[in-house]
Amino acid sequence: MSSSQPSILKKLIGNAPLRTVLIVPFVLQIIGAVGIVGYLSFRNGQKAVNDLASQLRTEVSSRIDQHLDSQLDTARHLAQVNADAFDVGLLDPKDLDNMARFFWKQMQLFNVGFISFGAPGGEFAGAGYVLDKNIVSGISNPKQHGNRNHYIYNTDSQGNKTTLIDIYKNYEFEKELWYSNTVKARKQTWVVYQWEITPFPLAVSANKPIYDKKNQLIGIIGIDQRLSQISDFLRQLKVSKSARTFIVERSGLMVASSSTEEPFKLIEGQPKRLNASESSDVLIRSTSQYLVKHFGDFDKIKDTQQLDFLLNQERQFVQVLPWKDEWGLDWLVVVAVPESDFMGQINANTRTTILFCIGALVVATVVGFYTSRLITEPIALLSKASQDLASGKFDRTVEVSGKNELGVLSESFNDMAQQLRDSFKALENTNAELEQRVEERTVELKIAKEMADGANRAKSDFLANMSHELRTPLNGILGYAQILQRSEPMTQKGRGGVDIIYQCGSHLLTLINDVLDLSKIEARKLELHPTAFHLPSFIQGVAEICMIRAQEKAISFDLQIDSQLPTGVCGDEKRLRQVLLNLLGNAVKFTEKGGVIFHVDVIKDAEFSNSSSQLNLNQKIYKISFRVEDTGPGMTPAQVKKIFLPFEQVGDLKKQSEGTGLGLAISQKIVGLMQSEIAIDSRAGIGSIFSFEVALPEAKDWAESSRIVEQGTVLSYLGEKRKILVVDDRWENRAVLVNLLEPLGFEMIEAADGKEGMERALATKPDLILTDLAMPVMDGFEFLRQIRGHPQLRDAIVLVSSASVFEIDRQKSLDAGGNDFLPKPVQADVLLGLLQKYLQLEWVYDETVTAGKKAQDAMPNEMQIPAIEILQLLDEQAQSGDLDAIIEMAEEMQTANPEHAVFANKIVVLAEKFQVKELRALIAEYLSQV
Ligand code: ADP
Repeated sequence: MSSSQPSILKKLIGNAPLRTVLIVPFVLQIIGAVGIVGYLSFRNGQKAVNDLASQLRTEVSSRIDQHLDSQLDTARHLAQVNADAFDVGLLDPKDLDNMARFFWKQMQLFNVGFISFGAPGGEFAGAGYVLDKNIVSGISNPKQHGNRNHYIYNTDSQGNKTTLIDIYKNYEFEKELWYSNTVKARKQTWVVYQWEITPFPLAVSANKPIYDKKNQLIGIIGIDQRLSQISDFLRQLKVSKSARTFIVERSGLMVASSSTEEPFKLIEGQPKRLNASESSDVLIRSTSQYLVKHFGDFDKIKDTQQLDFLLNQERQFVQVLPWKDEWGLDWLVVVAVPESDFMGQINANTRTTILFCIGALVVATVVGFYTSRLITEPIALLSKASQDLASGKFDRTVEVSGKNELGVLSESFNDMAQQLRDSFKALENTNAELEQRVEERTVELKIAKEMADGANRAKSDFLANMSHELRTPLNGILGYAQILQRSEPMTQKGRGGVDIIYQCGSHLLTLINDVLDLSKIEARKLELHPTAFHLPSFIQGVAEICMIRAQEKAISFDLQIDSQLPTGVCGDEKRLRQVLLNLLGNAVKFTEKGGVIFHVDVIKDAEFSNSSSQLNLNQKIYKISFRVEDTGPGMTPAQVKKIFLPFEQVGDLKKQSEGTGLGLAISQKIVGLMQSEIAIDSRAGIGSIFSFEVALPEAKDWAESSRIVEQGTVLSYLGEKRKILVVDDRWENRAVLVNLLEPLGFEMIEAADGKEGMERALATKPDLILTDLAMPVMDGFEFLRQIRGHPQLRDAIVLVSSASVFEIDRQKSLDAGGNDFLPKPVQADVLLGLLQKYLQLEWVYDETVTAGKKAQDAMPNEMQIPAIEILQLLDEQAQSGDLDAIIEMAEEMQTANPEHAVFANKIVVLAEKFQVKELRALIAEYLSQV
């Protein structure tokens, strides 16, 4: 049996109401039991009926057989006895009266219908039953009476004729078949014939011819058995209610039957034998028709047969028994019994069984209904109470009735509810206590948090102040170390010492700056300030810085930029640069052989339209992936785990001393602010891959927005059109400058190296040249030298633009003849300041967009804030009221550092108006932002 069956049953039972579950099996059992018993009794009954019918038919047939045997034997014997009596001379054919008396006496002894003797001369003597039950004797004696009349007499107790009852006129017995057939046959023979006398009884007679010694016929002895006697016998046989028995000749003519019908019909006063297949009795007719149909002919039935057939859809059992004797009688005895005679009772029983079944069903349903109600009502109450309990009504109880299982269950339920009430009460109390405790703890925690916040603030303030305080003297140290390095004649040892001072100072400054960054991040004061910038040149600039370091270390540096990279994007350029420089710097720093590859790719699938309301709806957002691969020492997984923690350094100790252990911690936090994370794939001895992805919205107006300065957006300049030659091997860098300057009305000329630069310069005579330092074919230094050496170009204004962070490069470029230095990546306002200064330009501004927009950055761009020592000096002078000195210093600043022009301007205006207080406030404001 499959395991799913019980589960289906369970499911069915589980979903049905309890009442159904209780009643249905009960009712099913009853139907099953009664149904099976009813069916079996019906089947057994039917079988018994079949057996019984068979036995009955056999029984009845054999009784008929016996009866015929005895009846017809008697007739046969009597015929023989009488013939013998003639033979031995006991009977005289001439003494008819005596013969009639003899016959009368025989009639008293034997159960036959009539005993007759007919002689060829017309003499006739007989005794037997004619009309009623009395035995009469009849005599025809033509010789004596002179006619053929037949005289019938009453008899006395000795058989002597007494009174004449009736005279049958002209009785020609010779015409009767018993006589004529036997005469013809000349031997003993059976004849079925009809009396010529009304009511024409049908008789079977056993006849024997008597011959004298000369073989002359003396007469015929005939012993009649009236067939009505056999019919009577058949009728009084108790077979069954509507069973029929009948006897037919092989010809199909009816001999006798148990029906009331005579075996002959009167047609025009003449009797005519009836064929069994034409009987008016349905069962007899159909049975004989069936037999003819079944056997083809009555003649073909050779031995006893048991058959059955359907009449009006009902089965009829039939038995056919051939009956023969040695005198040539050949009859068929048929017994037909309808099954319904027996099945009637059985069908009635079945009906009673069905009625009982229905009654039992009704009773079972009603009883089941009430029983189940007795069970389900308390259960329903319990279930309702438990539902109430589950929904929080804990005061629910159930009435306990009786001591049976349900009573016990109700009691247990009440106990359970009580326990629950108690438990909830206890729980409520505990809760209240807990709440109280939580409140107390919250207050304590609040106080603790306030204290901790205070401490944290104090720490941040302390760190900010400390770094501020530390940086001030450091600036002095570094500044003078540089001055000493460049100018003062010194011993070898002294120079070495100054170098160490400079290196240690720089290290300390980096450390302080890092600590400040970290503390700002930790105090959540670090915010991103997104601006629009030119991405390719930004990357180029970052890469160039590292490339220089890589070249120094003689390792390769490969930059692989996706060609699909957007041009202008919006992001915190400064912070992004800080992260990239850190990763690239580390890669270059730790790699001793092999090299570094810097991949910048656009992640295709991530390109999507921004739906944020803050930004332009159609603005595309690019997901850019930055990946720095190196063939450095790599790290073990354990080391990788540590390196993002502040001050954690791993690996080579010598290398460690070069760093602070803060770079990655800060970078990770910055990338975190950009909603991303730096991932590392590093293998010790093989190398490391540092990567991260950031979403940068596209900024198509990067060039325009970077032209926004204090006075507004620079639109163009007054005066004639100026030509500017840009010499740079990288198209990205040239593109930045061309994109920035062309819209302002400059004619831009480009050259990819110094050699091309010279050619272009000679051909176009530019008003200003912007040149890179590191270039193939001819580098920037050579280019400068050639310019300065060329008579036509000697006085050209050349601005050197480089990513080099080394002061020495800056100095070298100026020494080689550069007019000024423009650090890479190019800052638009610095560039514009330099152009204004060297080309004496007067800008035309769109004042609707002022630098106020740019000032949305909480902190002004660092490039606009003067060095701390200058600010401090200004502050000191403001304190001592030396306004002239302030104005002088500011003017110097304006020329020396155009990027500080805005600040310097403000100072001059305030100083000239003697607004010392405002002056100090302005300086203090700038100081606070350093
Ligand atoms: P540091 O100033 O020492 O470079 P970082 O936070 O930038 O500080 O790096 C922490 C440590 O992670 C480094 O000291 C170094 O041990 C390890 N590290 C960083 N980048 C690499 C790299 N590319 N290859 C091997 N080790 C590295």
